[in-house]
Amino acid sequence: MADAPVGPSLPFHPSANPVEQHADEVDASVSCSSCDAVCCRLTVVVQPEDGIAEHLMEHLNGLRVMARDAEGWCVALDSARMCCSIYDARPDVCRRFRMGGPYCCAVREDYTRRVHPPIPSVLI
Ligand code: SF4
Ligand code: SF4
Repeated sequence: MADAPVGPSLPFHPSANPVEQHADEVDASVSCSSCDAVCCRLTVVVQPEDGIAEHLMEHLNGLRVMARDAEGWCVALDSARMCCSIYDARPDVCRRFRMGGPYCCAVREDYTRRVHPPIPSVLI
């Protein structure tokens, strides 16, 4: 898990993202097993049919979303193993998030940029 706290970044819902809707490409070099679960820092909108327990949710701008901990990760994330503790019952929007898809790659790049910003060039 990264040390530096970073704020919520891109919205989560893939269906709201035209890149995710239309691109077929998947970067096969990307794997959740070597990722800080950065997609689990995004705002996860929960639908009633998802059947998520109330204590795992909070309200945001009139929506029911997965609650996040003080560091910004979804409260359902098992921080010891960096995996979803409710995997079999996770929200539909999480099921549709493609590993290595355009949105996955975008949130990983965004997170890396925030945690490890590029060293500015120095002119002598
Ligand atoms: S789907 Fe992408 S962002 Fe999410 S844990 Fe896997 S590799 Fe990381
Ligand atoms: S419900 Fe699971 S997969 Fe979805 S954001 Fe939370 S920890 Fe990640």
